[in-house]
Amino acid sequence: MAVPEFQTSPGMRDILAPESARWRAFVEVFAGVAESAGYRQVMSPLLEDLGVFQRIGDATDIVSKEMYDFADKGGRHVALRPELTASICRAFVQHRPPTPWKVWSAGSQFRYERPQRGRFRQFDQVDLEVLGSNDPHVDVEIIALGWEFYRALGLTQVKLLLNSLGEPEDRARYVAALRSYFESNRDSLSPESQITLDKNALRVLDSKRHGDASIIAGAPRIVDFYSPDAAAHFEGVQAGLTALGIPFTIDDTLVRGLDYYRHTTFEYAGGTLDSAQNALGGGGRYDGLVESLGGPATHGIGFALGLDRTLIACDDEGVFTAEPLALDAFVVDTTGGLEALQLTAELRAAGLSADRAYENRSMKAQMKVADRSGAAVAIIIGSNELEEGAVTVRPLRNNDGQQTIARSTLIDYLKKARP
Ligand code: AMP
Repeated sequence: MAVPEFQTSPGMRDILAPESARWRAFVEVFAGVAESAGYRQVMSPLLEDLGVFQRIGDATDIVSKEMYDFADKGGRHVALRPELTASICRAFVQHRPPTPWKVWSAGSQFRYERPQRGRFRQFDQVDLEVLGSNDPHVDVEIIALGWEFYRALGLTQVKLLLNSLGEPEDRARYVAALRSYFESNRDSLSPESQITLDKNALRVLDSKRHGDASIIAGAPRIVDFYSPDAAAHFEGVQAGLTALGIPFTIDDTLVRGLDYYRHTTFEYAGGTLDSAQNALGGGGRYDGLVESLGGPATHGIGFALGLDRTLIACDDEGVFTAEPLALDAFVVDTTGGLEALQLTAELRAAGLSADRAYENRSMKAQMKVADRSGAAVAIIIGSNELEEGAVTVRPLRNNDGQQTIARSTLIDYLKKARP
């Protein structure tokens, strides 16, 4: 086949069936977990004023390097959203709903990254946020719901990593200490980390480069910088997770990519992916983000979980698999097609799933389509059946014999045959 002139852009994909059904089911499972805990859906636009995302912080790669931004026809500088939290905070400032505002969201994000396994330029996330409460139990609830979601998918090897970045002032003192430590060891850091250091000392802790590991191991620890309030908050989160029986590992290098995080940060690591790509999802507290978008001082915490990497983890663990799509019946009509038109409509109206062949093709050609359709049975209407007011039911998934039954009994028959 010749290469088509137009194909998806790098890092962007068509998701076809049955994978598309799995994507939808993924969001449905997430919605079930979130709504059962009182979270309600927010749907925000894919496109926002560039400024909404710039408030995330210029030192963040997704803002400084990876944004799909452009001027629209009205000269407005807009961007395709690289993440959901900033949009949700913008929506909070715009609508001022009562707090705590507990919301979930889902959809595509856009980042101009180098495409690779588990990393795309358009990718989907599900997201949970609570605005307006500083209770450590909110942190625990959010983290526990993510945990429960992975359980609901059937994943058992996910690990929860936990850290606290303290109050903004604790974080600032810590960053200053880190900077002077890394500066004094600058020559031993990888060239990439030296560049990171110039922009954001905290992010050097993110480096997975082998050569940086020993320098990072000797760096100052955030735990020594916590104010009493920050320490108490973090203890509250840990006690809550322990009370719920959720195992976690404290990882004090877990700073996450975004500059707005305060206090609790966390990540769900897949048990099966390479280390560079094993973050299935993560989040944290972002007190201060709502203010930077023009709203009142408002606490916030949330997470985003990536669909792609979570599905790779599902494949690796053999859970939440893509099921071939099923139909109750496929109608084969060799009398002209009108019977197929009416019968499929009747079956669908009765709550059964039904498809049919078109173009009045031969019995053999129609049966070939029926075999491919995933239907449990073919319903055959030939001239004999038409005369007798009957249909022939031919099983497609096993060798049970076919039978001819009165057409008036077909709906009951198919309903009883459902697994
Ligand atoms: P972040 O919004 O960067 O905290 O990412 C949260 C989750 O979204 C990650 O753990 C990944 O599962 C997923 N994710 C982030 N960037 C990408 C990407 N470029 N392609 C696919 N998934 C991504």
